[in-house]
Amino acid sequence: MSTERRNSNRRVVAARIRLGVPRADGRRAGERDRQVHFVSLPADQPAPLVLRTLCGDPLAREATDLLDHIAGMPCVRCLARVPQAAETAQDSRRSA
Ligand SMILES: [Zn+2]
Repeated sequence: MSTERRNSNRRVVAARIRLGVPRADGRRAGERDRQVHFVSLPADQPAPLVLRTLCGDPLAREATDLLDHIAGMPCVRCLARVPQAAETAQDSRRSA
């Protein structure tokens, strides 16, 4: 009906916080925080300042590396949500 699909175009990327940086919640990132999370980002816009991971963790963009591939331990809570997020990314809006 419309070409609005473009607007809801999202991509799911792997993200990992840098070691020792302050997290958005004030703690410093340690090895435990170095698991690879996944974030759903708008495909045609710059990433927001705070990346919300699929598991709900806020990551400061400037302290986070976006990865082309998974390097290290993936976050299982994020992993469990990736298929859903990828599906949402492909479908244009589905009535919920
Ligand atoms: Zn996660």
